[in-house]
Amino acid sequence: MQVGKLVERWRGAGMKVGFVPTMGALHQGHLSLVSLALGEADRVIVSIFVNPSQFDRGEDLSSYPSNFDEDLKKLDEAGAHCVFFPSVDEIYPEGFSTSIHVSGLTDTLCGRFRSGHFDGVATVCAILLSIVRPDIALFGRKDAQQLAVIRRMVDDLRLGVEIHAGDIVREPDGLAMSSRNSCLDPEERKQASVINSGLSRAAELVLEGERDAERICSAVREVIDKASLATLQYLELVDPDSMKPLSKLTTPALLAVAVYFGHTRLIDNLILEP
Ligand code: AMP
Repeated sequence: MQVGKLVERWRGAGMKVGFVPTMGALHQGHLSLVSLALGEADRVIVSIFVNPSQFDRGEDLSSYPSNFDEDLKKLDEAGAHCVFFPSVDEIYPEGFSTSIHVSGLTDTLCGRFRSGHFDGVATVCAILLSIVRPDIALFGRKDAQQLAVIRRMVDDLRLGVEIHAGDIVREPDGLAMSSRNSCLDPEERKQASVINSGLSRAAELVLEGERDAERICSAVREVIDKASLATLQYLELVDPDSMKPLSKLTTPALLAVAVYFGHTRLIDNLILEP
């Protein structure tokens, strides 16, 4: 049965429908969104779609991890009611010509380095939301800029879906869970915990009274630089809604970071409260 029809049927029976979009290679971070969805909706749909249009030309779409059979097992165990795994042709049929650009919010952080990435994300999310038509859709705070872009787009286009956010789920050593973690070699994986150590250092400094963005960032840089395999791409303190850079911490702010370990790019963030 088509996913839209299934949702219509559920809605007709008075059920609330939750939706978790993913790119597969599922881990506990994704599953935490499924469990959040199960707490807030009667039926939960998860999509698995590795969206080609959100990968830059230089980025290797073909090496993005995938583990479809395992994913289905995990979703079944987690209690998801339906898995939607469209083909590229189903999402982008011949003649497809639309792109959604959310301006402003996409000028900083990942937007500075991944050209076209958020246009790809916004466009595919709009398509998925139009196909599924859920009551609520759930996204992780790990991708904080993505979450802000989706919220803006849903408001601007009056898509009529509630956006809910889930907290970052971490490995025992503090590394934020990510499908890309499986691309790290053992030494890179060991060193990758330095990202969270850096963010924790920032939180400590803020507790001690530090409010200057540059001083906070340089302390975090110092921690991350200790990992010989880490190459920092960006580290910025921004407003959590507008994503605009901040020079002082006067209201809750988002400290966001992207670090390369070899070819693997990892992102993480923390909300700092003055
Ligand atoms: P992805 O498959 O990477 O596109 O992620 C699908 C959804 O899972 C997005 O809303 C992500 O923000 C969320 N997500 C990914 N990793 C985590 C994590 N470690 N904790 C919480 N949410 C996550």
